[in-house]
Amino acid sequence: MDWMERVGNLRQWARNGVRAPHKPLLLLYALGRFRRCPDDDLRYSDVERDLRELLQDFGPTRPTSPSYPFHHLVSDEVWEVRTDAGAGSPGSGVQVLRESGARGQLAPGLRAALVADPSLLGRLTQLLLDVHFPPSIHPDIAASVGLDLEGAGPAPLAAGAVRDRRRRAVELRRDVLVAYEYRCAFCGFDGALGRVPVGLEAAHVQWWAFQGPDDLANCLCLCSLHHKLFDRGALGLDADRNITVSREFVGRGGAARSQVLGLSGQGLLGPQSGSDRVAAERIAWHTAQVFRGAARVPEPA
Ligand SMILES: [Zn+2]
Repeated sequence: MDWMERVGNLRQWARNGVRAPHKPLLLLYALGRFRRCPDDDLRYSDVERDLRELLQDFGPTRPTSPSYPFHHLVSDEVWEVRTDAGAGSPGSGVQVLRESGARGQLAPGLRAALVADPSLLGRLTQLLLDVHFPPSIHPDIAASVGLDLEGAGPAPLAAGAVRDRRRRAVELRRDVLVAYEYRCAFCGFDGALGRVPVGLEAAHVQWWAFQGPDDLANCLCLCSLHHKLFDRGALGLDADRNITVSREFVGRGGAARSQVLGLSGQGLLGPQSGSDRVAAERIAWHTAQVFRGAARVPEPA
């Protein structure tokens, strides 16, 4: 059994650019638990809260129930559910999972493979993160489920594909930084160490993992802080390309006010004329799939 292939096929859920990271998040959670306690099964009523928080933190903004992946991941043959009555999931309803004493566990074959090959856990972790989430938030998710990205090994794509992807990433970063004149499109940060820009990144608006293209109409030059906040949905753009700040973002200190809350309603800096601006359809994807809830109303100047 090629577990990398089977887990990679969860990607089917990313069809049409709609984010449905429920199954990958459950699987990452289960891998984290397996790492700590390989023999434990996960009683639904015990892990429901953890799963709900994971979905809130890293899932799309529409409300989702943790019962859904708990039941449906069984069909991917990487996870099994049993109840007090025996093998098999009782369904995807919250009540029935709670009341039947439903317990989930990685499929026996996968557990055996993880024991036989100690590198598999890291490779599966990296694969799930690569396929479903942008790199800027991989460490946050890994930390939330108790997994370690150190030593996770090479990306799961074939070696040639990895080389192509890296080359494109280097070229894209250069194009984006030039278009935005080496400064953050949100705050104007333009730091350099000697002559080399530092803390500036090319950020995809529609994530690469969700068919977001590698071009200027889908990218922004952002500083590391604003890249992270944009990928987590704390920051976004409205249809006029003005910056939006999620009502869920809170920060009381002066730095949070000046570097985040104060951006609300401001226009983008750049790109220089002659360069493609971010396309409306990419912004619409980010707003629907990533931005967290409603935007704050800009405070009067
Ligand atoms: Zn910035």
